[in-house]
Parts: sequence; C-alpha cells; structure tokens
Amino acid sequence: MFKASPFKLRMYEVCPQQYKFTYLDQLAADYRRPKPYLTMGAHVHYTLKDFYERLEPTQRTWPALEQLLRQRWRENRRGFKDASDEQRWGMKALQMLKLFILKNDVTTTPAMLEDYYDMLLTDQLKVLGRIDRVDHDAAGLHVIDYKTGQFDEAEVSDLQLITYAMIVHARTHQPVYRASYLFLATNQWYSIDVTEDLYQAAADEILERVEKIIQDNSFQPTPNRYCRHCDFIDICPRSAEIKTKLTNHEF
Ligand code: SF4
Repeated sequence: MFKASPFKLRMYEVCPQQYKFTYLDQLAADYRRPKPYLTMGAHVHYTLKDFYERLEPTQRTWPALEQLLRQRWRENRRGFKDASDEQRWGMKALQMLKLFILKNDVTTTPAMLEDYYDMLLTDQLKVLGRIDRVDHDAAGLHVIDYKTGQFDEAEVSDLQLITYAMIVHARTHQPVYRASYLFLATNQWYSIDVTEDLYQAAADEILERVEKIIQDNSFQPTPNRYCRHCDFIDICPRSAEIKTKLTNHEF
C-alpha cells in the first residue's frame, strides 16, 4: 500500500533525492537536526489544539492561551542557538497567538482538531494528511490549515487544500464548502471554495504523481532554495556545488 500525503508529494516535486533519503532510505531519524522554526511551529500548533480541546468557550482568554504556550514550550526547547535566540522565537509565537485571539471568534468549538486523517483512494493507495482544524457552520464544513511562516505563494497549494477537504468529506460524509490556510503571523487567510467535482481532479493528480514516483529509478537531486534547510545536505551527491551556491547567495 502506497501512502501519499501532500507533504510527501511536495517533497518529491521539490527534490526527488530528498524524498529518497527520507522515505526509501529512511535516513531522517539519523540526520534530522532540530530547527527553531519547526520547534516554534509545533508549539503554536499544539497550543491551539489544547486551547480548543481543553478549554470551554468562556475560558478561551489570552492569559489561558499564553499559559498553554508556556506549558508546551517547556516540553521541547531544541533547535535554538542560545537563550536570546529562544526568546526571539518565543516572542514570535506569542505575537501570533495574540493576533489569533484578537482577530478571530474563538468561542465556536471546532468539529475536528489536529490529527492525522486518511482515506483510501484505491485499494493500493491511501491518502493522508495532518489536518489542523475543521469548523462546522451553517454552510457546512470549513477545513483550516495553520501556517506559522510568512505568507508565501510558493507555500500555497490548492491541491493540498482540496486533498484535505476530500479526506474530511470521506470521513464525515458531510459537505466541505471551504478550505483555507491561515497565516498566523499576519492573520492572513487564503481560501478556496470547495465543490465535490474538484475531488476527482485532485484524485487523478495524486494518482499521476504517485505513478511518477513509483516509476522513478534515479531520484535526481534538484538544487533549490530549500537546500539550506535540508538535513541531507552533507550526504547529497551535489553537496559541494550547493554549498558554494549558498555561500555565494545564489539561491
Ligand atoms: S541538499 Fe538540496 S538537492 Fe540535495 S537532497 Fe537536499 S534538497 Fe535535494
């Protein structure tokens, strides 16, 4: 059974070699380095989950949200250069959550909260995704994916949003009418209207991408602007060339 997630498919599109190191050679645990933006992002995601899961609507206040972030932060403080670097990332997280509570109605309890959800696309292909939140209102279900980085068109994927909507629809049998990214740093929403006729096109696209991966027998390294964050840069076949480009700010 092939398991496909938007994250996995995107990694292959960006760099087949990185995909091979991660999913075929399974080297991620050996080479993964903690990174400040990943630690901060994980804390913000889990804090928002705790906020909705543990607190009643009347308890959802700024002091309560801040307290939840501080609890999560104590559990994992890896990836920061030093105390001032950690403080800087901590301030970013606090600012995002403050903006979130100021700009959004937090009294409605979501229908689904952050977890891995999946569906069978064929008897040989499972599609899965980590879905942050699903709200239920009069129009139907609204799938929401939090982003802790700045708004970046390269990070926006309609296929990812439709895939999440399709998974939620398959699990709940209820209509999903909207799927959105919420960029927490600026409270900026990127939304698409979802209709069921989008699902077949998304399924076809996923099948095509998976077939391409299955047929690949070279998994070429593809230098790109994300190489600086790649855990495998030291063992990448194009390591020397990439490091030179990074030094010369060519990415
Ligand atoms: S360093 Fe760049 S080219 Fe090499 S595996 Fe990583 S992402 Fe791919």
